[in-house]
Amino acid sequence: MTTPILRMANRSRTVFRWPQRLRPSDWIARYFKHGPQLEAFDFERFPWLREPADTIGDYRVEEQLLICPPQVGKSLLAEAAICYFIVEDPADIVAYSHTIEMAKDWGEKRIMPSIRACRPCQGLLPSDPKAMRQRELLMSHMVVEVEPANESQTQSRSRRIVICDERWLWESGRYDNAMRRASSPNFEGRRKIISFSNSGDYESDVEVQWRASDQRVLFSNCPACGKEAAFKFSEKKCRRVAAKIPGFTIRFDENVATRPNGVWNINEVVKTVRLLCPYCSAEFEDLPSVRVKLRKTMHYVSLNPTGALKSRAWAVSGVAVYPWADLVKQFLNANQQLDLGDNQAMREFILKGLNEPWSEDVIFDLTTNSTGDYEMTGEPWEESTCAAMTVDYQELAPYFWYVIRDWADRGRSRLRKCGYAHTWDELHEIQQQNGLPERFVHVDCAYRPDEVYEHCARWNWIALRGRAEDYFIHSRGLTHPIRRYFSDVRLVDPAIGTDRQNDPRRRRAIEFMWADTPVKDILARLFGGHGAYFGVPRDVPQFYMSHMASERKSIVKMQAGKEIRRWVKVGKRANHLWDCEAEQIVFGLIKGPLRMVGDESV
Ligand SMILES: [Zn+2]
Repeated sequence: MTTPILRMANRSRTVFRWPQRLRPSDWIARYFKHGPQLEAFDFERFPWLREPADTIGDYRVEEQLLICPPQVGKSLLAEAAICYFIVEDPADIVAYSHTIEMAKDWGEKRIMPSIRACRPCQGLLPSDPKAMRQRELLMSHMVVEVEPANESQTQSRSRRIVICDERWLWESGRYDNAMRRASSPNFEGRRKIISFSNSGDYESDVEVQWRASDQRVLFSNCPACGKEAAFKFSEKKCRRVAAKIPGFTIRFDENVATRPNGVWNINEVVKTVRLLCPYCSAEFEDLPSVRVKLRKTMHYVSLNPTGALKSRAWAVSGVAVYPWADLVKQFLNANQQLDLGDNQAMREFILKGLNEPWSEDVIFDLTTNSTGDYEMTGEPWEESTCAAMTVDYQELAPYFWYVIRDWADRGRSRLRKCGYAHTWDELHEIQQQNGLPERFVHVDCAYRPDEVYEHCARWNWIALRGRAEDYFIHSRGLTHPIRRYFSDVRLVDPAIGTDRQNDPRRRRAIEFMWADTPVKDILARLFGGHGAYFGVPRDVPQFYMSHMASERKSIVKMQAGKEIRRWVKVGKRANHLWDCEAEQIVFGLIKGPLRMVGDESV
């Protein structure tokens, strides 16, 4: 017998055999292999993936979404689902990733190798090696393509199975385009749109889809009393499970050992971390064996059973999957930064640590600021270690607005004086009368920069320029580059273009740039009384309060599933002292009182 015929016979046996009726999760556990060691998929380790896996075989559910924290198997399930469809339920498949680079990487390094490693897939693969490319597999009975979720790619030929990875990164509207590829009426009752994501901002497409779904969250049975409960970090503030639904919560002690003199000792805190049962108050130590016990009874409960029948979603709490001590560490660190006015670490903790949606609280709140526990005497605050004068220069008279603020340790500060001036000389006098060092005067240089540079060079003052950047990278003199909310120092020659240009004795101006949004976020939190003491005297002039209420943070656009918010002026209100106070925050960041904020490794 000739080999080609034998090959064909083998091939037809593979193609035309009866599909085995295994549950998708059992099929995946038996046939799917991943990684260089060709490991089998272990649902014991990732019990939260079993129900989403089985739902891929259930066409009553058209849209399914798994919101999972990082590193607990969600992309693996996407790859396993592709193998399952190829063998058990062949259909044209498109898998979307965020960008072309991510799609290439995913196709080449993960999807195609796992198809090659899957035994039942092997018999179906075309003999022509060119049929399997980086992002495309052409088979006689179907195709698999891996695409970036951008405009052009989400609008081409129709596909019955659509898989969407890393949805939280997608720009808004892309998901609707992806869904349209499965919208052909031919696919009625047989279409599937499967998404995988981390949590997103409250207004993002992912979270909107979650709220419309049946909202399945993980529960476990208490190893002590047997009752089932959800997982929450704290009792009341869970963003997926309402306060009235009982949940296991994380506890840790606050006492002289864990928080001596108001400063957390992380090593001592983690020794006290445990999980509390809401029913029998049993407390469980943070041990792998305890987490294994909880995993054995993990199951999903729908919090919104009346949600759309065709749309199912699961969310996996970080408390159910990560060591609790790790979460407590992240939480305490984020809180510390929040005290200094920065909420970026808290955002990361909520989104990726807990896997809950993030929404910015109302951080700017006139009713909670610390106004009024002292009077404006014009004298320095006795607790202060330094003071700064910040200046806003603008087009209309009075041309100069200024704020003098005293700074103490732990980010505390107090407004000493605020007001306006008409000339540079008047401003110079105010600096000298108040005994402020030259380098502690900061002037905004957005308006007439050359004139600002000239005076900064003359009097050793510092020019500041607000920018739309989120941060600046610092690497000079550092072993690891870090991010800060202000730039490296820049020397500006105010004499450029004049006859003094070549005078070697001429002075240069020092300039820093600063990141507008994060700095104003810090100001708003501190001014709103949500962090370190930010004093405002009880007899502060009315114009100060009205300038401080001159900007609001609003969503200006959605980008990559993220709300882009900026501080914008309310109507035509004057905002000069608000700008001066923002420059005070920049001073605090540069000179140290607020230093840890934003000093984040790159
Ligand atoms: Zn219990």
